[in-house]
Amino acid sequence: MKKLLVVAAALAAIGAQAQDYPSKPITLVVPFAAGGPTDRVARDLAEAMRKPLGGVSVVVDNAAGAGGSIGANKVAKAAPDGYTLLLHHIGMATLPTLLRNIPYKVESDFDYLGLVNDVPMTLIGRPSLPAKNFKELSTWIGQNKGKINLGNAGIGSASHLCGLMFQNAMAVDMTTVPYKGTAPAMTDLIGGQIDFMCDQTTNTTAQIEAKKVLAYAVTSPKPLTTPALKDLPTLNDSGLKGFEVSIWHGLYGPKGLPADVAAKLNAAVKVALKDPDFIKKQEALGAVVVTDKRMEPAEHKKFVAAEIAKWSPVIKAAGVYAD
Ligand code: ASP
Repeated sequence: MKKLLVVAAALAAIGAQAQDYPSKPITLVVPFAAGGPTDRVARDLAEAMRKPLGGVSVVVDNAAGAGGSIGANKVAKAAPDGYTLLLHHIGMATLPTLLRNIPYKVESDFDYLGLVNDVPMTLIGRPSLPAKNFKELSTWIGQNKGKINLGNAGIGSASHLCGLMFQNAMAVDMTTVPYKGTAPAMTDLIGGQIDFMCDQTTNTTAQIEAKKVLAYAVTSPKPLTTPALKDLPTLNDSGLKGFEVSIWHGLYGPKGLPADVAAKLNAAVKVALKDPDFIKKQEALGAVVVTDKRMEPAEHKKFVAAEIAKWSPVIKAAGVYAD
């Protein structure tokens, strides 16, 4: 009897907590360095979710490293109370194959809270590269085999995947230089310490516009409409047939969130996705805010499972996974 009363009291306490949720700041873990593309999406989303969450702050925590698996693991192991969330990208689907030994299970260690956006990537180069377009770049790469450096956000990251696909498509091995995110990689690219990088438009648009880097192509199936990017060819049209990568970002919590906490968070994501200010900021950076059913947790989960099924054989067939 006593035991039953204790259990009932504990359940009532959780219920009361869930009803009051959120009553203190929420931590949003970004698994990459501050100032990069994932961080940028997270900070805009945090701002847009504040109002629907009753004015409670959503504070970004950059838990960077190991291609985005350190931050994801931090959230997988956090208390499922709605105060520790994760914003992650396509790495949720590609890391299990690209990195193989990750310490969490994408399908069972998280609650899915809605997909946020789709973002194409751009192939960019250091400003001092002599090649002014993709054709000249192909020639330059052919002439510089064995000397080329390619930056990325760590093994398992989106830039790693795109860079490996690029080397594979060009049939040229390049030396990959891993960073904790593409923000620090961008600093080195601008400074000429590395030659190339594949990165989301949310990080590259401003640098391309300011002519701080050279841009060669986009990874989307069609050219983009964003003013600074609209003249760039697709990699597919540039001769790398079938080359296409689209990065998406989604929101997650640790598995086991109280149902009404998860519902409040998903409702807040949906409000953010309709926020004109959020949409405007994202569009200016080449990102497309989700308007389809993937904003629903069940569809988000289905989509990630489909992405795992899509990328796993591609990564394995290309032999582009890391040991
Ligand atoms: N763009 C990075 C990646 O390649 C992630 C980041 O720095 O936000 O995965």
